[in-house]
Amino acid sequence: MHGDPRRVAVIGNGSSAAQLIPRVAEQAEHLDVFQRTPNWVIPKPDATFGRPVRLALRLVPGLQRAYREWIYRYAETTLYPALAQGWSADLLRKRALRHLRDQVPDPALRARLTPAYPPGCKPVITDSSFYPALNRPNVDVVTGRIVRVTPKGVETTAGLREADTIVYATGFMSAEFLAPMEIVGRGGLTLEEQHVPPVRPQHQPRAGVTNNWPGRACPYPTGGAALRHLMVTHER
Ligand SMILES: Cc1cc2nc3c(=O)[nH]c(=O)nc-3n(C[C@H](O)[C@H](O)[C@H](O)COP(=O)(O)OP(=O)(O)OC[C@H]3O[C@@H](n4cnc5c(N)ncnc54)[C@H](O)[C@@H]3O)c2cc1C
Repeated sequence: MHGDPRRVAVIGNGSSAAQLIPRVAEQAEHLDVFQRTPNWVIPKPDATFGRPVRLALRLVPGLQRAYREWIYRYAETTLYPALAQGWSADLLRKRALRHLRDQVPDPALRARLTPAYPPGCKPVITDSSFYPALNRPNVDVVTGRIVRVTPKGVETTAGLREADTIVYATGFMSAEFLAPMEIVGRGGLTLEEQHVPPVRPQHQPRAGVTNNWPGRACPYPTGGAALRHLMVTHER
């Protein structure tokens, strides 16, 4: 962030917001985070790969592949069922609640940050510096519904929150990544029509080479499947 950011408003609290808020909070005089629905947040397992580990990964035959396999198995057997309300869902919920308790000492703020729905209904955030930023004295989590943006700032049902800079972290349209190009395939269907729901079953994009688009390799379908799983399966 350049210039002289004094009062900053960040609208949204998803993965993008969780990444930018800690940095903006360090520089802004005051930061308001506008939260519509709290998200589940789990700590980021950010291991340090020291020299001995890097050497071992380079020199020990099969170690790199075994490590990759462990990540894959862990995600498939534990993370995926947790997001699909399977056997590990309660473990994930407890882990996230412990993370919140460990990082947010103020019970009133903790209550505002506690989701009222099971993990998996919205994307789960993996981050260890988001909550500490919200504890800062120059940061407020605003939960009043936004009514309008005015020249002075953001007006909520609870009143005006003044802002010089507004950051929109409210998500993005993943299916519109091709705009403004228009590519027409077999049968007169545009690529965008193929990706935007409701997608007709016969046009549902497939991982690999999509139907209607000879020679166009698509590494994953946009139909909402577990992308990580598909990409790893392809890698194999
Ligand atoms: C089915 C599916 C599977 C996915 N799988 C993976 C995966 O395996 N790995 C991976 O890395 N990524 C995956 N993604 C992508 C990942 O979820 C997104 O890239 C990420 O969530 C984008 O984060 P974001 O913060 O930009 O948007 P969002 O996560 O959409 O967050 C936007 C936030 O803004 C808030 N908001 C919106 N409007 C307002 C408003 N008016 N006032 C206040 N708040 C507002 C919303 O409540 C929301 O919390 C998947 C996405 C989907 C849909």
